[in-house]
Amino acid sequence: ATMPPLLSAIANAGRHGVLVKSAVVMERLGGVTRVALDKTGTLTEGAPRVAEVRVLGAAGGGLGEGGVLAAAAAAEYPSEHPVARAVVALAEERGLRIDPAEDFTSEPGWGVRAVVGGRDVRVGRPGVRAGGLLGGAGAGAAAPGVAEGEVADVVDAVEGAGRTAVVVSVDGVPVGVLGVADRVRAGAGEAVLALGRLTGSAPVLLTGDNARAAGRLAGEVGITDVRAGLLPQDKVAAVREWAAAGEKVLVVGDGVNDAPALAAAHSGIAMGRAGSDLALETADAVVVRDELATVPAVVALSRRARRLVV
Ligand code: ADP
Ligand code: MG
Repeated sequence: ATMPPLLSAIANAGRHGVLVKSAVVMERLGGVTRVALDKTGTLTEGAPRVAEVRVLGAAGGGLGEGGVLAAAAAAEYPSEHPVARAVVALAEERGLRIDPAEDFTSEPGWGVRAVVGGRDVRVGRPGVRAGGLLGGAGAGAAAPGVAEGEVADVVDAVEGAGRTAVVVSVDGVPVGVLGVADRVRAGAGEAVLALGRLTGSAPVLLTGDNARAAGRLAGEVGITDVRAGLLPQDKVAAVREWAAAGEKVLVVGDGVNDAPALAAAHSGIAMGRAGSDLALETADAVVVRDELATVPAVVALSRRARRLVV
């Protein structure tokens, strides 16, 4: 028998480097009317590095730059988030001792907390100390007003340079800010352009990162519609909003934080190499060859297959 069009499209997608999980998915991909892309790990390489470590003067707690980095690395060690990998990599590069973490918790879109050497260590987006799961004992509320002005100024300076500011706090006191930088993927601009042409609508950036880092990246890849500072549930809300307006949204993401949006979308594609297990399991298709060009390619393959299915 000759192969049915959707099955040969799946085989073709595989040759392009995309694992499409079913014929139903293969068929649906060609129907998308809008594409929403995650930033970190999707439009960027997902291999960020810590470009600067700023010690917060008064509250440095005598830890110094090495102590701040070592504490952050210890708390981040169990996390698979790209920022966590970057923090651990720098600590290891500098030969710092990374103590074991106890009671590790991570909150997608926020950051992590753990007990290191009996101290409560939190690492995450500015405001993390007051946020969600990371609240409770040792949260920012326990240290009202401690160096908040200084924290805000340093975060502002780091974000102003287009970096992601990550705050480190120990026992509720902010001790440092890490400036994290990531590179845009080769071919990201071309992929955005191709997706815009295929769907007839401008692709959108959905990110948990700050507005300035997001805006800079968006400019580099040709995206004008940017939604920054989003929590995982905000990404879902954006997808639902478009769906309610009749759009069929394709979400492309990589992180644990993207999994709810990948699930809520008409179609979801996960970036395989940097991607978290949860994203890969939730998505309808997985990019195995680590290139964004495969995403418009698979949408085009679906279109072609749909024309052959009667
Ligand atoms: P994106 O949507 O760009 O992929 P995330 O939703 O994963 O980003 O994260 C949003 C923000 O939360 C990050 O920019 C970072 O500031 C913070 N964050 C999330 N996880 C971590 C972590 N493990 N360590 C430090 N910061 C984190
Ligand atoms: Mg991501």
